Amino acid sequence: MKLDILAIGVHPDDVELGCSGTIINELKLGKRVGILDLTQGELGTRGTIETRYTEAAAAAKILGVEMRENLKMRDGFFRNDEEHQLKLIKAIRKYQPEVVLANVLNDRHPDHGRAGHLIADACFLSGLVKIETTDDKQNPQLRWRPKQILHYIQDWYHEPDLLIDISDVFEQRMKAVEAYSTQFYSSASGEEGVQTYISTPDFLDSVIARARMLGKRIGVKFAEGFITEKKIGIRNIDSLVLVET
Ligand SMILES: [Zn+2]
Repeated sequence: MKLDILAIGVHPDDVELGCSGTIINELKLGKRVGILDLTQGELGTRGTIETRYTEAAAAAKILGVEMRENLKMRDGFFRNDEEHQLKLIKAIRKYQPEVVLANVLNDRHPDHGRAGHLIADACFLSGLVKIETTDDKQNPQLRWRPKQILHYIQDWYHEPDLLIDISDVFEQRMKAVEAYSTQFYSSASGEEGVQTYISTPDFLDSVIARARMLGKRIGVKFAEGFITEKKIGIRNIDSLVLVET
């Protein structure tokens, strides 16, 4: 299945928090978008593997993505090494995305930065013809290198290289985030169980505030921010948000 965009997150919910507005935007333009979770988030304080699968499926449905797959790496203990790179290369070659949306390269949760580097390395290595891999039916896979990797900003603030206007789809984006009712505050999960850094109403408020603050930088209501290692090229001036700021 060839995709235009593959959004990769180390924990189910990383993609929703980091770049789901951008995903909805692209789906509305008719692009084929999928989500790849690297781990099952099994070390999360709240919820279980089962509830996180249910929530991830519900969020995927709200977004309307083509596919969501989980590579079942070990939460907290996966490495950026040959074994994990090859696993990810197989997935990249399977879906052949033009653009990869990836975890950030340095963040509060060490998994995020390690995953960001793992994804960047695997995207590069996937383009090398002498790295041989096979698909699920043992057929050899073709080399594939995504043309651009955009690292979505997560918990720690980083100055973005690219800001994408998500004002029109912000409500749908927050619905996808709120699908993770064991992780984030919602009327259903309320104040039950052990509270964490992300389970209080304050955390969701901060998610909204971040999008609002990034939006303000480009003169729109809400935006998502990305960091890129390569330069961004655009085809024409029309792609620019032209608002006086
Ligand atoms: Zn995470």
